[in-house]
Amino acid sequence: MRWAGGRRSGNIEDRRGMGVPLVAGGGIGTVVLLVLALFFGFDPGVILNTDTSSPSVTEAPSSSASPSADSQKDFVSVVLADTEDTWAALFRQMNREYRVPKLVLFRGAVQSACGMAGSAVGPFYCPPDHKVYLDLDFFRALSERFRAPGDFAQAYVIAHEVGHHVQALLGVTDRVAATRQRLSRADANALSVRVELQADCFAGVWAHHATASRQLLEEGDIDEGLRAAAAIGDDRLQAQTQGRVAPESFTHGTSEQRARWFKRGFETGEPRRCDTFGGAAL
Ligand SMILES: [Zn+2]
Repeated sequence: MRWAGGRRSGNIEDRRGMGVPLVAGGGIGTVVLLVLALFFGFDPGVILNTDTSSPSVTEAPSSSASPSADSQKDFVSVVLADTEDTWAALFRQMNREYRVPKLVLFRGAVQSACGMAGSAVGPFYCPPDHKVYLDLDFFRALSERFRAPGDFAQAYVIAHEVGHHVQALLGVTDRVAATRQRLSRADANALSVRVELQADCFAGVWAHHATASRQLLEEGDIDEGLRAAAAIGDDRLQAQTQGRVAPESFTHGTSEQRARWFKRGFETGEPRRCDTFGGAAL
């Protein structure tokens, strides 16, 4: 990506080094959880009700950020700014106002309006406070564990979370939450898949405009994004972690679906083409 000259967002909230008490369960457990809880856009009600009465509590590291981490912060800031510009313009076309989200950088654990969360849950968006939460260590996992390296793979993660914010502003999040209550577990999971695939499509819409308006993308970037989307498909993750695949438990969609919806957003650049709720096959 050609991001170095891009605008920086003023909406980053840097809470790294604030030393939020971290509910322990670290080490191996965290790594496994990272894979299982994966990934962006889990159900906060399930995962964020962390048991804070857990007896072992450690402090998150509070050392100052390394230079490479700060260049990462710079990068995140440029991507966030580009999503702000893109969605502000798209919302204007819809005669709506885009209210920008905050992006909270944290390390180890963080307090959100959705509850306390550890890094293990992966990046997430919390609808009540309109904030995206990101531990930069996740990008290393994305590159090494999920074999989806590259700056655009990281940008896709951010744009996907911003996609959940767009859903909140458009009323999708509330409608889904109301419907979920009446559904069986399997049907609620199926609904989650539609939510996640739409966020993937919205990430693609952003990538379309970042390229068309600001030439942010370079050769190979879209492949990085598609690789990242495919790397975190439910089928592939389940095969890796459980050795078998149980479609009724999918909450994010298959690798093929995630890559395809991202691509649809990228090719059209139109949010209305991201209707994953319309009854059509996913
Ligand atoms: Zn998500």
